[in-house]
Amino acid sequence: MAEPNIGRSVHYTSFGTPGGEYESECRAAIVTEVDEPGTTNGAVGLAVLNPTGLFFNRHVPYAGNGQRRRGGTWHWPEPAGSNPYGAAIDRLTADGPTGP
Ligand SMILES: [Zn+2]
Repeated sequence: MAEPNIGRSVHYTSFGTPGGEYESECRAAIVTEVDEPGTTNGAVGLAVLNPTGLFFNRHVPYAGNGQRRRGGTWHWPEPAGSNPYGAAIDRLTADGPTGP
């Protein structure tokens, strides 16, 4: 497994609303800090690029390889075409490529 490092592009899983008005979705995010350098898939700080604005979050835990995506966690991006707008996140069982 890859080690997250500063500037890497990852996905952040947004929280859905309890009433279901908004589903949990993948958001683009850039790693801004690494909590435990040298650790594989540890917690990181993220700049999350939402369609309507940016937000910054620290100590975001990794979702876990093959685990169901949970709101408020990060993961490596899925392969292109496998996640057309978040509805598929619960069906995914494997992590995507870890980038260059
Ligand atoms: Zn994703």
